[in-house]
Amino acid sequence: MATHRLLAGLIGAGIQRSLTPAMQEEEARHHGLRLHYQLIDLERTGESPAQLPALLTAARIMGFAGLNITYPCKQAVVPLLDELSPEAQAMGAVNTVVVRDGRLVGHNTDGSGWAWGFRRALPEADLGCVVLLGAGGAGSAIADAVLGLGAAQLRLVDADPPRAQALEQALNARHGARVVSHSDAAQALAGATGLIHATPTGMAKFPGMAVAAALLRPSMWVSEVVYSPIDTELLKAARALGCPTVDGGTMAVGQAVGAFELFTGLNADAARMEQHFRRLLAAR
Ligand code: NAD
Repeated sequence: MATHRLLAGLIGAGIQRSLTPAMQEEEARHHGLRLHYQLIDLERTGESPAQLPALLTAARIMGFAGLNITYPCKQAVVPLLDELSPEAQAMGAVNTVVVRDGRLVGHNTDGSGWAWGFRRALPEADLGCVVLLGAGGAGSAIADAVLGLGAAQLRLVDADPPRAQALEQALNARHGARVVSHSDAAQALAGATGLIHATPTGMAKFPGMAVAAALLRPSMWVSEVVYSPIDTELLKAARALGCPTVDGGTMAVGQAVGAFELFTGLNADAARMEQHFRRLLAAR
């Protein structure tokens, strides 16, 4: 049987340490596909998002099955596409582009990837009153997803309050009046059943915590999006208190599972992809 070949890639800046190529290529191998997953790192070549139209045209001409899109291109890519999925349309951001019959179709698997990992790790989590810290790219996708899971109330906090307010308006228009923005994390966390952290704080280059440990309570679950390092200071503080937690790796795997399925039309083995991801992380 001839081996099917597939081209895919990731457009972003500062992505040299991404685990996505290894994850996607390994899962493809299990399905009898030869997938080459190319990193297209704007930082490495001194390019900018202004090059996106040329890169998309090149990908189409070269027969790419699809592309993942990351910082700083998730919003800039939107007007360059032929079609958007309802989620990508609602979020105004795309992390996966599929090339079908020469047309570029934008999707967003960040929200669905977060929801998949969250439900898997904390199936019983109380979604009565959820605080989301960080209303940027990841936060916007997760906000949409947690409302889709049935969160009764969502409180948004961002260091840039107009950003949280704009997201509040967009989400309430789409999901009904369940979202309120707060300028103060302490006020937002009073009475909350869970906390989702979606700011870059805690990454190796931005150490620390975006929220004071004293504001956490053992009855609260904590979901982290940062996965480099995998055990952030927030997760360590939450675990020390006995809070149920989900690390950022679950979302990283969830969004990759969604992208693989969009690129190939095949069902990914999510458990296998997660095991592989954890092995790659441990070997870093
Ligand atoms: P972004 O820059 O689009 O948004 C970050 C938001 O956080 C901004 O609105 C900023 O104002 C806010 N912020 C920063 N510090 C804050 C603080 N101390 N308190 C309150 N708000 C604060 O970034 P992004 O693309 O949303 O990425 C955020 C993090 O999520 C990054 O660490 C990224 O690596 C991670 N991420 C993880 C996954 C995953 O699969 N696990 C996917 C996407 C992004």
